Amino acid sequence: MASVPVQNADKLVDRHGRAITYLRISVTDRCDLRCRYCMSEAMTFLPREALLSLEEIALIAERFIARGVRKIRLTGGEPLVRRDMIELAWRLGRQVGAGLDELTLTTNGTRLAQHAEELFASGMRRINVSLDSRDPALFRHITRHGDVTRVLDGIAAAKAAGLRIKINMVALKGLNEHEIAPMLGWAGAEGHDLTLIETMPLGAIDEDRADRFLPLPKVLADLRDAFDLVPDAHQSGGPARYWRLAGTETRLGLISPLTGNFCATCNRVRLSTDGKLHMCLGHEDSVDLRAAIRGGGLAQVDARISDALDLKPERHDFRISAGSAPAVARHMSVTGG
Ligand code: SAM
Ligand code: SF4
Repeated sequence: MASVPVQNADKLVDRHGRAITYLRISVTDRCDLRCRYCMSEAMTFLPREALLSLEEIALIAERFIARGVRKIRLTGGEPLVRRDMIELAWRLGRQVGAGLDELTLTTNGTRLAQHAEELFASGMRRINVSLDSRDPALFRHITRHGDVTRVLDGIAAAKAAGLRIKINMVALKGLNEHEIAPMLGWAGAEGHDLTLIETMPLGAIDEDRADRFLPLPKVLADLRDAFDLVPDAHQSGGPARYWRLAGTETRLGLISPLTGNFCATCNRVRLSTDGKLHMCLGHEDSVDLRAAIRGGGLAQVDARISDALDLKPERHDFRISAGSAPAVARHMSVTGG
């Protein structure tokens, strides 16, 4: 597609005065794992023709950069199962230090060992790796068939390549709660950050999420008994609240959408695998940038992005209760977690 000047170079500011500076892109909804809290064992994926092409993703991302987005995260699904993902990293990586402050990735780590050096070379400096357990049997149970040694090897390779790592761990009652304190100790020893996440009601799964919901305030209280944790002023404009493990570089982040709302400072939007622009993880509203780019070209994309600003709600309204349907039918893997 021929390059055209950005039609609307206005900065992205929503009705509530929040500047949008962070774009998360789900490059595929497919995944080589089936984490129990994320998707069902028999998850169905979008047909390939529904996916944005690499070129379409890059062109749309460039429109956002021109309008003030400073950070892009590639996620999914599992981004590293998409073959041309690295090509996209190279293309967007060229913008780091130009329009972008940061290009980053969230991955389950199963294919990280083979890609770590190239990710660093593309311009990435920090990545998030999901690791809900370091115990091989429990990891296999949570992911339904994953091999934790591959993930640990991937993390080691990423560290060796020079990438700073944040471990994402979903806190699950009765499953991995006994591993949270050891995970923080391990992260501290390895020089990684750790972010704990409350399970969110997104998309149907085979279990009732209420059974596994673990409120993070109680987890934090227990961690403060066991570790010297000092409040950390770091603000990512995102949902996490931070603590620092005294005497280390390790930052502990807590993402608690159920027990603590963080929407007032939200700076992010999400581009789904099939080209929908979602202004909030917790709402169904979206605009269709795939239709825009295929039907009207980049001028249409610019116009639809402007329209979307009015759709960003003031806050999400997540609730988890026994037997209730997910707040949003879309899985996190489609929207880009
Ligand atoms: N596959 C990659 C991974 O697992 O890191 C990237 C996509 S995954 C959807 C991104 C993050 O969302 C992971 O840290 C995962 O644990 C988390 N996640 C997935 N479903 C979730 C849910 N329902 N509630 C809370 N976190 C969830
Ligand atoms: Fe796959 Fe990530 Fe979802 Fe696990 S959390 S099933 S690794 S997309």
